[in-house]
Amino acid sequence: MIIINNSSMSEYKSTNINSSPPPTEGLEEASNPLLQPFQTVHQTAPFNSVKIEHYLPAFDAAIDEAKAEVQKIIDDPAVPDFSNTIVALDLAGEKLERIKAIFFNLNSAETSDEMQEIAQEVAPKLSDFGNDITLNEQLFDRIKTVHNQLENLVLNVEETTLLEKTYRRFVRSGANLNETDKAKYREITKELSQLGLKYQQNVLAETNAYELLITNKKDLSGLPESIIEMAAQTAQSKEKEGWLFNLQYPSYVPFLKYADNRELREQIFRASSSRSNHGNENDNNDIIRRIVELRIEKAHLLSFKTHAEYKLQERMAETPEKVTSFLDDLHQKSKSFAVKEFAGVQRFAEKDGFTGIIQRWDWAYYSEKLKSERYNFTDEEVKPYLQLEKVISGVFGLAKKLYGLGLKENKGIEVYHPDVSAYEVYNENLEFIAVLYLDFFPREGKRSGAWMTDYRTQSNVNGNSIRPHISLVTNFSKPTENTPSLLTFDEVTTFLHEFGHGLHGMLSQCQFPGTSGTNVYWDFVELPSQIHENWAYEKEWLDQFAIHYQTGEKMPEELILKIKKAQNFQAAYMMERQLSFAMLDMAYHDRELPVEGDLKEFELNAVASTDLFESVDGSLQSTAFSHIFSGGYDAGYYSYKWAEVLDADAFSVFQEKGIFDRKTADSFRKNILEKGGSEHPMILYKAFRGQEPTPAALLKRNGLV
Ligand SMILES: [Zn+2]
Repeated sequence: MIIINNSSMSEYKSTNINSSPPPTEGLEEASNPLLQPFQTVHQTAPFNSVKIEHYLPAFDAAIDEAKAEVQKIIDDPAVPDFSNTIVALDLAGEKLERIKAIFFNLNSAETSDEMQEIAQEVAPKLSDFGNDITLNEQLFDRIKTVHNQLENLVLNVEETTLLEKTYRRFVRSGANLNETDKAKYREITKELSQLGLKYQQNVLAETNAYELLITNKKDLSGLPESIIEMAAQTAQSKEKEGWLFNLQYPSYVPFLKYADNRELREQIFRASSSRSNHGNENDNNDIIRRIVELRIEKAHLLSFKTHAEYKLQERMAETPEKVTSFLDDLHQKSKSFAVKEFAGVQRFAEKDGFTGIIQRWDWAYYSEKLKSERYNFTDEEVKPYLQLEKVISGVFGLAKKLYGLGLKENKGIEVYHPDVSAYEVYNENLEFIAVLYLDFFPREGKRSGAWMTDYRTQSNVNGNSIRPHISLVTNFSKPTENTPSLLTFDEVTTFLHEFGHGLHGMLSQCQFPGTSGTNVYWDFVELPSQIHENWAYEKEWLDQFAIHYQTGEKMPEELILKIKKAQNFQAAYMMERQLSFAMLDMAYHDRELPVEGDLKEFELNAVASTDLFESVDGSLQSTAFSHIFSGGYDAGYYSYKWAEVLDADAFSVFQEKGIFDRKTADSFRKNILEKGGSEHPMILYKAFRGQEPTPAALLKRNGLV
């Protein structure tokens, strides 16, 4: 996961910027550390002196300053050129970006009620400010003037990229439309955002409306103790007797996996898979038809044939045709394996006394049993080999071996919590290149999951080199009095994943904040993170640090092998499932005409080739497919598989040349990690790989050959 706060105005739209009033509270401003130049080591965030009361006045002052900077660009009497318009706009609001980064990063890692209140108050101010920019006609006129001269300008690749990116951001938000169409565009986007919200509310309402209350203890048969306990607590919190299950992930998934009672599994499955498809006030069928129709209208307004074409203009995959053939290709290669996996589960179930054909509510149940019969190991067996301190040295060692990086803790760098440590990162010539914060343990005020983010983005405009400040935040288990922090295998891959994003930020050698580091197309952003996960399965790397914290023994090869194989369990089934979602997404979004008629039929048609199960009456994926109807993944669901293909394909070069091969690592660094979003990702990728990615390596890794 990655959070980018410093998106340098990439989401802004709207009109007219007022010149800023002079700051009225000069005294306060002078004592507000957020508004002063940072006097800290490497100009890092001054966490020790920032107090909660500093944020709001700092936001207000910085927004005013940013507005004034943008107004200065508009008022510039000089003829618009690349430097006084495009670069100036990318650099405008630097102070605001700095404050946003500190505030929103801490709102994720160390929040409080006060922080959340400030977030509520600041959000509309920031979005107004954003709107003031992308719909400002005078500003767009200047950008357009520069863009019209593109052919005659002497620009390098990154400068051209920034110009195109800036121009497109405005055009894609309707800046080039005539007044009538602009009004239409605004109406469409407004209705779309309302419909997206309504869709999500409907799914939520239907998710929350269902409860499965179990009062007979024997209906709990098969469920693990921890799940039963959770269900008892849920019941208690609602003042009910017994055990309460619902459609939330942590309750629903284990129930399907473990509950022996087949009728109840069917009941809960049917409830989940028919959400917002009951013809009641929470029904999403009409909303879907309308969303699809409006997206087509919007695409047509902006001169695209389909919504997918519009979305893919800013993706590595580029065109709907490419996505469709990508999905078909993977499907052709996986389908026969998936059919075999299905037959395997069917056979296994029959041996267990099951009669009939495996239904959707049987799949997870028998698969789980089959899996534990085949690969019998637990997290508890793996953890003693993965002591956090040793894993850190393993990850740092990898950075040294591949990229020549040295990391040195500096206790003089201010941090926001005693658990956080800060490092200086040096390259092989011992030049300082970045600050890295590591924040490992859960605590109240930190949200769950793991992410990479930055407090400062790398840039180098006119010789002013700004080095990045990167942060990795996770929720790994804390050490106790007697036991050090021991990680699960998944936590190690998570660490490598976030560290990979971190490298993308730290190694960046770009010119502009808007094109540096992780500011890349989102079907490309997971390459640096996911590729580094591959080392976790390499004995050669594990041998360097995966040592039992009590016995000093290396992690047994047999155990590593089991982990690898378990990872590939039902890989083809999982592949087909992901492909079916992506195909459904494309069916809705790569079309020029609205969807007519029954959505069930539409959906069955779209995913027919991947389907292994009998169709279930009343079930509909579409009505609770929030990713594509309210989550921003429209014409983008393919990117999950796309990123996997990329990382496997790229890692295959290391497998061929040696997993620590410096030449390969150098090439990955120079062509990918240093380049950020300065050039089209396919060009960057081909420079590293010598060709476009192919799925061969992923299929091999998944055992599908
Ligand atoms: Zn990620």
